[in-house]
Amino acid sequence: MSSRNVKYKQNEFIKPCPKCGNNTEFTIRSKQCAEDCCEIWAVCKCGYDPTSYEEAGSGNRVEDVWGGVDDDNCQDAIRFAWNDTLEDMQKRST
Ligand SMILES: [Zn+2]
Repeated sequence: MSSRNVKYKQNEFIKPCPKCGNNTEFTIRSKQCAEDCCEIWAVCKCGYDPTSYEEAGSGNRVEDVWGGVDDDNCQDAIRFAWNDTLEDMQKRST
């Protein structure tokens, strides 16, 4: 499993963490989940992970054949695994 710490500039694009409000500092993680499939997702600096089994089950992580945490994959993880998951959770709770 590989991971990378990323820090973004102040922005209005990334949804704030529901636990601590952070939206600029994340750890991007990549893990092989099958022979030709890797999962990539973002974890807040406080440790909050909206794609964890406790929170949402799996299924919201980005799937990629090669995995890894290059810039493109980090962006995808933020956009799909973080933003979309939080948006879904907000929709469910309203
Ligand atoms: Zn947080």
